[in-house]
Amino acid sequence: MAAKANGEACGECGGRTYLIERRGDLASARVCPCSEACPVCGGRGHILVEKEGTFSKKVGARTYEVLQPCMCTLRRKRVALFNDVQMPGVMAHASFDNYRAFNEAQDRGRGVAMHFAHQYVKGDTAKNKGYVLSGPVGTGKTHLLAATLGHLVLEMGVRSRYVEISLPPTTRARR
Ligand SMILES: [Zn+2]
Ligand SMILES: [Zn+2]
Repeated sequence: MAAKANGEACGECGGRTYLIERRGDLASARVCPCSEACPVCGGRGHILVEKEGTFSKKVGARTYEVLQPCMCTLRRKRVALFNDVQMPGVMAHASFDNYRAFNEAQDRGRGVAMHFAHQYVKGDTAKNKGYVLSGPVGTGKTHLLAATLGHLVLEMGVRSRYVEISLPPTTRARR
């Protein structure tokens, strides 16, 4: 749309193409109005991509076209995936960009979370070992977790779930 045509990032989503808002108790995502109409596929939802492959030695390399889901289809799927995460509504606006680190430990925590999110390889369970943040209440652990989930789901299409687990007092005492 106009916002994109003149090279400016959309004021609503900042160019992310989706919005995350609080809806009741949960964080909810939707496609930003700036990206609802797709200029790439014209609303068809898929695009033809030219590929090259060698099927026989005699003929050699040939180009052929395959139908691929357009980015707008992926975006819609990821938004739907995000709405299955069940992230608490208070975390709707948590991102790595707006995380405030007030000390070195918090800065390190952000580094760990960002590294995990950006190095994540979809489907590679051996590589994606996760991370543990520990610290007092109010230091931004949930913020970093929410930012990580948002990145994995909306930027990479990873199916995720926000689950809160409280250890019973006896277990806690033994640790
Ligand atoms: Zn937008
Ligand atoms: Zn499209």
